[in-house]
Amino acid sequence: MDIRQTTLRKAVHLTGIGLHSGNPVRMDMLPAPADTGVVFERPDGAEGWQRIPARADLVTETTLCTALTCEGQRVATVEHLLSAIAGLGLDNVIVRLSAPEVPIVDGSSGPFVFLIQSTGMVTLDAPRRYMIIREAVQVGDEDKWARLEPYEGFKLSLEIDFDHPAIEAGQQVSVELDPDTFVHELSRARTFGFLRDIEYLRQHEMALGGSLDNAIVLDDYRVLNDDGLRYADEFVRHKILDAIGDLALLGAPLRGHYTAYKAGHALNNKMARAVLANPASYAWGTVAAPADGAAQTREAALAAS
Ligand SMILES: [Zn+2]
Repeated sequence: MDIRQTTLRKAVHLTGIGLHSGNPVRMDMLPAPADTGVVFERPDGAEGWQRIPARADLVTETTLCTALTCEGQRVATVEHLLSAIAGLGLDNVIVRLSAPEVPIVDGSSGPFVFLIQSTGMVTLDAPRRYMIIREAVQVGDEDKWARLEPYEGFKLSLEIDFDHPAIEAGQQVSVELDPDTFVHELSRARTFGFLRDIEYLRQHEMALGGSLDNAIVLDDYRVLNDDGLRYADEFVRHKILDAIGDLALLGAPLRGHYTAYKAGHALNNKMARAVLANPASYAWGTVAAPADGAAQTREAALAAS
């Protein structure tokens, strides 16, 4: 039997603030039938909901966050939530938002993982469709580049290059993605920013909700957060978390190896679009569940733990 699709056991919600607006936002996550995928919803002004599917071709902004726009409705900062959804193997979910931005919460995927695990996931009677990379695709230039090539599982190898004493310690990480690895080694890695950039952002009405509660903030020498870092190489781990969320916009779990140097949201989206523009680079397929159903049982256990 092939690995099956999943959805949430029950609806859950969370309230927080938007990173860019600084305004409160309520997010409701609802179970959805097989083949729905991940769909954001915003009020349509007539007591209904307008759908914004999580698709790479709807990405309209990649500065500081990934934002989607569909028929004039926009949702921003989708990447950390999408990363949690993809990292845990949740295939179908409706995400309703009271404001045009996913709550930033603590700047990582940790609170979304907690939310999904607290309600749990159920298996649906439909096979999960994977995007299987068949031919290598490369985007970028000598300074920043990304490459996606055939691989049995889903592996990410990222390198960043910051000339900063707090970041230099760990700038390269490679992970073989599965729900357990995602939860323990990636999900708690927070977004980060430099004090010298914050004043500029504020003047341009950006990152108005940003604080030491939802980002690692660095001056020219050190980390300013009292509690320090959650992982010694939290910065590059966060970049992997972002890449998982941005590549989830391909609409299916990947079977491939993503290697990138100095990647950000723009490069991740460029890769997603390059893959979709080159049908020879991928095939849709299903993956046989292990004979004892171990993978599914493990995902379900993780979701319920
Ligand atoms: Zn991020």
